[in-house]
Amino acid sequence: MRPTGPLHMGNYLGALANWVDMQEQYDCFFFVADWHALTSDYENPGPMADYVRQILIDWLSAGLSPDQSTIFVQSKVPEHTELYLIFSMITPVPWLERNPTYKDQIVQLQNKDLSTFGFLGYPVLQAADILMYKANGVPVGVDQVPHVEITREIARRFNHLYGTVFPEPDAILTETPKILGLDRRKMSKSYGNAIYLSDSPEEVQKKVMQMVTDPQRARKSDPGNPDVCNVFEFHKLYTDQPTVQKIDKQCRNAEIGCVECKKIMAGNLIKALAPIHEKRQYYESHPEIVDEIMMEGSAKARQVAKETMSEVREAVKMRY
Ligand code: SF4
Repeated sequence: MRPTGPLHMGNYLGALANWVDMQEQYDCFFFVADWHALTSDYENPGPMADYVRQILIDWLSAGLSPDQSTIFVQSKVPEHTELYLIFSMITPVPWLERNPTYKDQIVQLQNKDLSTFGFLGYPVLQAADILMYKANGVPVGVDQVPHVEITREIARRFNHLYGTVFPEPDAILTETPKILGLDRRKMSKSYGNAIYLSDSPEEVQKKVMQMVTDPQRARKSDPGNPDVCNVFEFHKLYTDQPTVQKIDKQCRNAEIGCVECKKIMAGNLIKALAPIHEKRQYYESHPEIVDEIMMEGSAKARQVAKETMSEVREAVKMRY
């Protein structure tokens, strides 16, 4: 995950909540991708140190556990750069140019100059991040599947040229709830429409009350359509099933107003987020513990990375 700001509910439900569950099933490596953040935010690295700490606090508060998983910061494991360099020697440029995310981002982020070597090459850095730990699976959203495919191609090419060192990892896709931002656009820091894990209960309540509901429903006396309502999507996640069914019926029959409906949802959301908030307060007042977890996790990751790089140097005949 790139440290470009505090984590919001979209990040939590789209990735983090899934990672927390995956810890039970897999030997997981989770890292804060600070070098990746530099590919697009190289002009403004000032807030990075704070973002790195905030993301770690969000992860730990949400339930990532240093006892179950290896939690680290990318730049604390400099072996990633060496593997990135070696992979860059064997990666044909057209593989990167045809990457759909690359073309998409260039169009979307027109306020930034992304015509850099680093931005074109970030799937190569991702390949190094993944293959360093000989990962068999990578939990990604659909939009990241082409990157996992490039990683597989790089692994295949390396193994073909130098002998088998790396597995070809699979993308692990999971269903994620379709929640939107307060204004019904994609939830995003840049749109200013997000509910953050770090928001206080009062802020959560205030934001829920601002949420755009069924756009066709102007008055309480108009029947609503929960199927197009973002508040209802949150109800499905945070409200008990019988109440969800009741609200569905009441909304369609204009028997409940959106204000009342939002209050019920806000109460349930705040209750669900309470354990995360409590842990957040703890870690915020104990930054030394967060630092310790980061340093220990990074040392653990580095140990694995050193072993992989030893095999890689052997394979590319650079053992001297
Ligand atoms: Fe959405 Fe609830 Fe209003 Fe229906 S009553 S439109 S579900 S907020």
